[in-house]
Amino acid sequence: MNFSDQLKSQLNIVDVVGQYVRLKRQGSGPRYVGLCPFHSEKTPSFGVHSTLGYYKCFGCDAAGDVFKFVQQIEGLTFPETLKTLAERYGIPMPEQQRVDDPEGKLRAALLEMHEIAAEIFQSNLRAAAGAEARAYLESRGVSRAGMEEFRLGLSDPSGQQLVLRLQKFGPSLMEESGLVAKRQDGTGFYDRFRARLMFPIHDEAGKIIAFGGRALRPNDEPKYLNSPETKIYKKSSILYNLNRAKIDARKRDRMILVEGYMDVIGVYSAGIHEVIATCGTSLGPQQIRSIKRQISYERAGEVILSFDPDPAGARSTEKYIAMLIGEGLRVKVLEIPGGLDPDEYVQQNGGEAFRILTEGAVSYFHWLAERARSKFDMRTAEGRVDGFRMIAPAIQQVNDRLERATIANEIAEYLNADRDIVRQVLRRDLNSQSLAKPNRSTSSIPLNEKLLLSCLLMSEEARSSICHYLFSSDLLPLLELRSIFEAVLVLNAEGVTFSPDAIENRLEPRLQEIFADLTFSDLGISEENATEQALHCLRALESKSVVVKCNSLKRQIRQLEQEGKFEDALMLVDELNKVQRSNEPNRAERASSTA
Ligand SMILES: [Zn+2]
Repeated sequence: MNFSDQLKSQLNIVDVVGQYVRLKRQGSGPRYVGLCPFHSEKTPSFGVHSTLGYYKCFGCDAAGDVFKFVQQIEGLTFPETLKTLAERYGIPMPEQQRVDDPEGKLRAALLEMHEIAAEIFQSNLRAAAGAEARAYLESRGVSRAGMEEFRLGLSDPSGQQLVLRLQKFGPSLMEESGLVAKRQDGTGFYDRFRARLMFPIHDEAGKIIAFGGRALRPNDEPKYLNSPETKIYKKSSILYNLNRAKIDARKRDRMILVEGYMDVIGVYSAGIHEVIATCGTSLGPQQIRSIKRQISYERAGEVILSFDPDPAGARSTEKYIAMLIGEGLRVKVLEIPGGLDPDEYVQQNGGEAFRILTEGAVSYFHWLAERARSKFDMRTAEGRVDGFRMIAPAIQQVNDRLERATIANEIAEYLNADRDIVRQVLRRDLNSQSLAKPNRSTSSIPLNEKLLLSCLLMSEEARSSICHYLFSSDLLPLLELRSIFEAVLVLNAEGVTFSPDAIENRLEPRLQEIFADLTFSDLGISEENATEQALHCLRALESKSVVVKCNSLKRQIRQLEQEGKFEDALMLVDELNKVQRSNEPNRAERASSTA
């Protein structure tokens, strides 16, 4: 057994995928479902099959084994994936396994450089020269423990500290790291961050991939300077503190989204851990997906927006409400009394007070209605219409029709707006709903075929006792899933290791979809009763095919009699008798008695 097989056999795909996606087991079977991490969706179409070691999304067709999943979600090469998983699960990796992998090496070097930089920044902050920066942090309520936990640091004012320490990596890696920049006159490098308070940005797995640097002197511009995008840092997909926040976020099915690093550190240090921020960008679809896969589980998770009480904060809140609702999340808005930002409030009132505040956060539509009232003149009909129009986009994003109507009416009442406007908004929404893609379904396939296939997939014993018979049966050409059964038969005959992947590879795209659907539909079959169930299905399918054949013959006979073609009709009567005789005893029963 090679290392990757050995590693795979020790990994539990549900456990590995479960670190990224909240999965729900279907009944007591081997199937788990969750929201797909690879595309945006409101209802789960992502499945993991624990015994087959296989995942599949019916929305975007992402599929594969445990390695493919980690490769896809982390954006790693195959060798990197093996290394990552082996490290994560403490499984020793043989030395000869370390193959040539330029992309993996590049990423590993960049991560190492960031780790070195973080350590340098941290020791600067701890040293005597860091006194001023430490005092600033303490004045903002960040304790020594908080500084260590978030690995805060200080960049050296000389602009040469990192350059010297990173020299051993060579100029091209230095440039790729984004930690240093090339002098315009081409005479070497300088540190990108100088005399700034440094906030390391971690990826979901907790590795440092970038930095945010805050100016310490009032006239230093910009106030916040962030790492550029690199091979390891994609701004649009990273959330600050997600690596720490996700544990509590999963416990509480909620996430608190705040504006900046200091808010995150303040709120987190006060004991409310499910808090995150974007890294100097506005919230995008990939980040929303990251949030969702932590908190949306059996029902939609909750996002609490708590931005600074200024016009920019309000604009972000307004924009994000529609985006988050559109992704099926529940949204609340937390406005902090006294015009404070979250960090200041926690400092003055403590974590418990903040927690109570989050529990009283208002639903987004109350917040929007309040905002509409303050923006428009509600005494005029025009103002009321404008007010409602402002809120409409968010309401239109509500998935459930009844809930949408209730909210719309409630807001109309609150704003004193005309009901006709409400109806208009909802009608427009219904039109767009009808454009939604049709639901793919396998419902037209006979249940017994689906059951039979499930049995064959589930049980080696069922395959070995049924396949031979099915192959020689004249039932096969009549089955709707004929090609899938044939693929199973061929694999079985070839003695290839049986896996859904191998079958899928032999199917045309339309059937691949159906096949994947069937793999994950729970038909209540267990491995123990699979053979018996398979025989039962075969019998049912055979007798049904006989009935269909007989009915068709009878119809033709009647037709010929009416046309006066008695001789032809008699020939068909003969055939009908033959078919009826062939069904007694049922062929499948004979197969089972010889099996
Ligand atoms: Zn998907």
